[in-house]
Amino acid sequence: MADETRRGRGTNDEDHPAGLDPYTEFHDFDLPAWVGSTSFQKLPHVTDGEALRAHRPDVAIVGAPFDEASSHRPGSRFGPRAIRAATYHAGSVNSLQLGIQPFEWIDVVDAGDAPVVPVNVDRAHAVIRRKVLEVAQAGAIPIVLGGDHSITFPSASAVAEAVAPRRLGIVHFDAHADTANSTWGVLNSHGTPMRRLIESGAVAGANFVQVGLRGYWPPPETLEWMRHNGLRTHFMTEIEERGAEAVIADAIAEALDGPELIYLSVDIDVVDPGMAPGTGTPEPGGMLSRELLRAIRQVVGAVELVGMDVVEVSPPYDVSEITAAVAHRCVMEAISALAAKRRDAGLPARPSGRWAT
Ligand code: MN
Ligand code: MN
Repeated sequence: MADETRRGRGTNDEDHPAGLDPYTEFHDFDLPAWVGSTSFQKLPHVTDGEALRAHRPDVAIVGAPFDEASSHRPGSRFGPRAIRAATYHAGSVNSLQLGIQPFEWIDVVDAGDAPVVPVNVDRAHAVIRRKVLEVAQAGAIPIVLGGDHSITFPSASAVAEAVAPRRLGIVHFDAHADTANSTWGVLNSHGTPMRRLIESGAVAGANFVQVGLRGYWPPPETLEWMRHNGLRTHFMTEIEERGAEAVIADAIAEALDGPELIYLSVDIDVVDPGMAPGTGTPEPGGMLSRELLRAIRQVVGAVELVGMDVVEVSPPYDVSEITAAVAHRCVMEAISALAAKRRDAGLPARPSGRWAT
């Protein structure tokens, strides 16, 4: 079709033909990042569950723009749009880290946002759970853009439901454990989702692995609950002493001690506030952004990933869009690692954006 023949003619074109009609010469996918579609990387926008089930993309981006379970600085409701916008590339981008053009190998779409409204935590969690379940049941890996970290409870619960009876392990990057029983008496805040996931049976405590914890929270009684329930924790001090790669290798083995599948949850505040200042609860002394990006490649390359979220990006507290850029690259590293796995397994390419929407 005429539209497809224009695809691939963009900034990277080595031999741009002269004399084309400027009104139609570029496909939207190849126009500059700030022109045209506002979907993630200008990928096809497929919000309808039936269309997702018909096409079975490999990955679907989902926005969860909800921040009213935040305990300190709000603003992460604006995270999904900021993460989608935090790119200066369009078209078939090329991962120098993994040597692959990911959108030529796997089919990635943007499934839009869960239809949240403000104020009502229970309603927001219910629609996020339904949206993520719809994507996962369509056979796609949901990559969910938060939102505050409370959204991991509905999101990971939905993935656990979709993959049952196969079981999940969770690898959780964060400065904070997020295992409180309540936050000022509220059970579903951004400080409690990991406890709710374990209590509900979505994941076993022994397969819940936390990386990057530091600072001055949680209190001893919460740490005792974590020990009692078998959670595995890797403090930031351990990364400083052993290096991230060795710690992540242990984290992968612990999360897969029983389960076959992994849900990856990335609170962007695991990165040092100097490199990711726009978060709800900034905690000094964190990972380098390059360490986190490498860790995501390491995890996704080694496991069967069935769901992921990147949360707590709060654009009003961001500086020069640094935090949104790191979060965007977290998503791109996961997509690129999934694409490299498909190629390395000798499976046929399933290019993104090749079908009409
Ligand atoms: Mn968190
Ligand atoms: Mn945190």
